[in-house]
Amino acid sequence: MIINDKPERNSSADWWAEQSRKLLEDQKQSWQLLNENYQNLSATKIRTFEFDGFEIKVQFNPARIKSSSADVSEDAIKSRKCFLCLDNLPKEQTVLGYNKNFVLLANPYPIFPEHFTISKKNHTPQTLIGNFAEMLVLSRDLGKYYSVFYNGQKCGSSAPDHMHFHAITKNAMPVEIEFDKMINKFPKEVLRNEKIEVRFFEEHLRYFISFESRDKGELLYVFKTLINALRKISPPHEEPLINMLANYQENIWRLIFFPRSKHRPKQFSADDGNQLLISPAVVDMSGLFIAPREEDFLKITKDDVIDIYKQVTITKEYFEFLRKKIGEIFI
Ligand SMILES: [Zn+2]
Repeated sequence: MIINDKPERNSSADWWAEQSRKLLEDQKQSWQLLNENYQNLSATKIRTFEFDGFEIKVQFNPARIKSSSADVSEDAIKSRKCFLCLDNLPKEQTVLGYNKNFVLLANPYPIFPEHFTISKKNHTPQTLIGNFAEMLVLSRDLGKYYSVFYNGQKCGSSAPDHMHFHAITKNAMPVEIEFDKMINKFPKEVLRNEKIEVRFFEEHLRYFISFESRDKGELLYVFKTLINALRKISPPHEEPLINMLANYQENIWRLIFFPRSKHRPKQFSADDGNQLLISPAVVDMSGLFIAPREEDFLKITKDDVIDIYKQVTITKEYFEFLRKKIGEIFI
């Protein structure tokens, strides 16, 4: 069922956030599997590892097994029916038309108390480069209640062939909760002009970069600079490996980029006794590891967390290169 297929621009800034919330509530009434998965989520188990000034959490979430263990090889993707194409959606799914390109869907396999997928109407590959401006508008439109995130084709997306974002409960990720604490601890790691602040995080097991601005044009410009720099250190003809989290508050965007060196750590495909089914995507990079199997949830140690981040984050050398390239804007 498609509702609101020809949405009109509404005068209220919070209209889309309210519509999304209503959609999820309606879907809980009409879709049993979705309702059960949201109910189970409230009983989900969490472990917390303390580090110097920040935390990493692990969530045991059996409903995510399909996503975490998804075969995202090219052959596997080609031979399966795309689960985001409108014709293939479950019959219970209500489709909320968002704009001419995207629809908004309640996610039946949530990680957070509210979780949506915003997917393209057409079957086109996952890419942030062509959709970054859309993401800014989307994160503003949903900003009252939700943060928006993106997983690159080869670093966490389980539908690399079909462009989509996620929207989730705002300020629920450890990196969002601890952001101010982190920047107060390392106040010097900032580049700033009158339009934007860019920060580089290197003391938190994985490298990441934040942009904060109320100016869309400036964000587009710095994003382009970041992507051009990343292209120089990535394989040709592919989008650089990147996860991104966008949060919009008091008319200011806060974007967090996690450049990646690879998708899955060696533990993912280790022999039985040593295997950890952890498949890092933006949520894991943001400080919440998702363990779909209880054995991994119980077994994972602080050293495993350190080791997994070390494998999947960008190298120190490449991070310094990005800092230098973005720094040139501020000279
Ligand atoms: Zn598709």
